[in-house]
Amino acid sequence: MKSILAQRTALIKPSPTLALAAKAKALKSAGQDVVAFAAGEPDFATPEHIRRAAEQAIEAGDTKYTAVAGTPAMKNAIIEKFRRDQKITLTPGEVMASCGGKHILYNAISCLVDPSDEVLIPAPYWVSYPDMVVLAGGKPVFVQSSDRENLAVTAADLERHITPRTKLVILNSPNNPSGSGIEAAEMKRIAQLVCDRKLFLISDEIYEKLVFGSFIFTSMLDLVNELPQLRERLMIAHGVAKTYSMTGWRIGYAAGPKPLIDAMSALQGASTSNPTSFAQAGAVAALTGPQDAVETMRQAFEKRGKLMCEMLRDIKGVRCAMPRGAFYAFPDFSELLGVGRIAQNDGELGAFLLDKHAIAVVPGGEFGAPGRLRLSFATAEAEIEKGLTRMKKALQ
Ligand code: PLP
Repeated sequence: MKSILAQRTALIKPSPTLALAAKAKALKSAGQDVVAFAAGEPDFATPEHIRRAAEQAIEAGDTKYTAVAGTPAMKNAIIEKFRRDQKITLTPGEVMASCGGKHILYNAISCLVDPSDEVLIPAPYWVSYPDMVVLAGGKPVFVQSSDRENLAVTAADLERHITPRTKLVILNSPNNPSGSGIEAAEMKRIAQLVCDRKLFLISDEIYEKLVFGSFIFTSMLDLVNELPQLRERLMIAHGVAKTYSMTGWRIGYAAGPKPLIDAMSALQGASTSNPTSFAQAGAVAALTGPQDAVETMRQAFEKRGKLMCEMLRDIKGVRCAMPRGAFYAFPDFSELLGVGRIAQNDGELGAFLLDKHAIAVVPGGEFGAPGRLRLSFATAEAEIEKGLTRMKKALQ
């Protein structure tokens, strides 16, 4: 029988990270003592002043449709964030809010990519980028980083993959899943390449505030003063989920050229309409209110990341670079994999750890980096200690 579903639906598979996180949750509710390293979600409560702002908005009757691309207060808060952090002044027409950073990216990719356009996606990559490109009819072109240690992509890596069909580059620093970060000088070379080759750049900066050690975050917007032509070729994808522990609120935001923001707003108007009114009020409080909770959470993540990496390095055959940002360790298990070993590949290793030892991780192959596992350290130190002690026992 002919399927009732549109052919397009065959192009997408369920997000492996969400699927694994759901499986771990189900095992946990069934009474298993699962250590969950799969979800990319901070475990802290949303800071109190943000919760109160949303409550007050509900009480004040702020429960109706708003302007599609965000309330005036939301747009001003986004403008204020970029003025404070990137020292750039944007207009209301250059910013918008959507239902999460993911929705911003979906809107943007849908509005930029035509059938058979090529999109450069540095590997390892966040799993949703290729799905969104394919849904728009475009062709994801994966760019392996020549930096085998930190896995941060370079302008030279990208340049080798440019063809006359290349339209867009999607950059993500700090990076999910690798925890790598791109240095200022390399960001500049990438920005220059995008301008020289007349491409468009989406810079996904959602992990901006979660940086560790001596790594200094560079926003692509920092480079616009030096390279004014970049402004017409750049969109920043951002959101409150990771910075303020607001994953469930579903508020993301963007800064980009007005024609793109207009097109994205029109698409949003034809699909979801505005992001939730009182969640916007919470996001305004997050972006414009006190920022000290951000630093408290960052410090906790840094400590946990160090602990996790040290414990991983203590397992024979495992290599792990210290993350420069985000909240993921991305260790290399390839020495332990192969025919006749505990597992042939990272997929089998992930299944072995979950099914036999109740440790939930995400196989690196899902992110275009086979031989590795992604472990989120957005979880309590006691859980990290328990999970990695268990993993060491399981593997040796
Ligand atoms: N970009 C990256 C790199 C991410 O890791 C995520 C979430 O995991 C997002 C964007 C989207 O975040 P949200 O839709 O929760 O705002």
